[in-house]
Amino acid sequence: MEEKEAMNDESPFIVICTECKKVRGDGGTWQSSGVPYNGPAATVSHGICPFCARKLYPEYFPAESDSAA
Ligand SMILES: [Zn+2]
Repeated sequence: MEEKEAMNDESPFIVICTECKKVRGDGGTWQSSGVPYNGPAATVSHGICPFCARKLYPEYFPAESDSAA
């Protein structure tokens, strides 16, 4: 009856990290590579995971302040 798919907090497509090939699953968790995504290619969006983003662009993604000295 009522299907509101655009109101979800999660993206309607699969995001694959172009750097480490991790795939973002439900809840924003990044799963390790080795398990290729078999779904429709139209839902695949290449992005970058927080780990690689922080590694490639440390100036944009500063480390957490938990270990700031
Ligand atoms: Zn990555």
